[in-house]
Amino acid sequence: MMPLSNFHAHSTFCDGAESPEDMVKAAIKKGCSAFGISGHAVMGFDTCWTMTKWGECDFIAEMDRLKKAYCGQLELFTGVEQDYYSPPPAGRYDYVIGSVHYIKKDGEYLSVDESEEEQTDTVKRCYSDDFYTYTRDYYRTIADIVSKTEPDFIGHFDLVTKFNEGGKLFDESDRRYQDAALEALTAITEKHKLFEINTGAIYRVGRTAPYPAAFLLKELFKRGGEIILSSDSHDGVSIGYKFDEAAELAKTCGFRYAKTLTQSGFIAYKL
Ligand SMILES: [Zn+2]
Ligand SMILES: [Zn+2]
Repeated sequence: MMPLSNFHAHSTFCDGAESPEDMVKAAIKKGCSAFGISGHAVMGFDTCWTMTKWGECDFIAEMDRLKKAYCGQLELFTGVEQDYYSPPPAGRYDYVIGSVHYIKKDGEYLSVDESEEEQTDTVKRCYSDDFYTYTRDYYRTIADIVSKTEPDFIGHFDLVTKFNEGGKLFDESDRRYQDAALEALTAITEKHKLFEINTGAIYRVGRTAPYPAAFLLKELFKRGGEIILSSDSHDGVSIGYKFDEAAELAKTCGFRYAKTLTQSGFIAYKL
């Protein structure tokens, strides 16, 4: 049986709904053998969804306490979800997720995943309603995620499709979209192989498929890429959400194993 583990999760130290301790208890209840909470890294400007500079120290201290308190029940790791535009992390983390949540255009930070309304307004205002130019800028940003964040794995590679269920905003089979995404995938896989399959938006906004889309997973496999299952959980009940389906999808795209984090680093297990 597939061992349950998840390293993409949030707590009340950033935009999660539950304390780290409640998240750890939920992970134990779900049967996780290993678990990590990945606080959203601070940005260089005020936000309501990241850790604060001071909260970051408290988060790491609280995770250190929990590692001792729950020792023997699961392996616990302290992570950070480093944004492309975050300053380098101040604290010491066990692992880093590299993600893009903003496109920077003409000096302005444009949120990619805040809400559908904000995304469509942004594309109207800054891209003359052209989603293909917009998504190209997103992929040009994430193409450089490895040198910018030095990640252990890549977070939600095609997050820019978050609100595009059923192609309601743009056509994901359009060459303009796919070429930009594949170019970024190529650039990243030359330097780094481990990507997450992220089920978070299936739980949170009713998407039907995880990130990345199947055509990207197939290309990732061809390029020697590797996967790790993530539920990007903002509450305890969603830990490991739809991992069975994500594993099935991975298998249809060619993958035979996935990775998990242990005290001796990332190791592979059979899907
Ligand atoms: Zn994220
Ligand atoms: Zn996240």
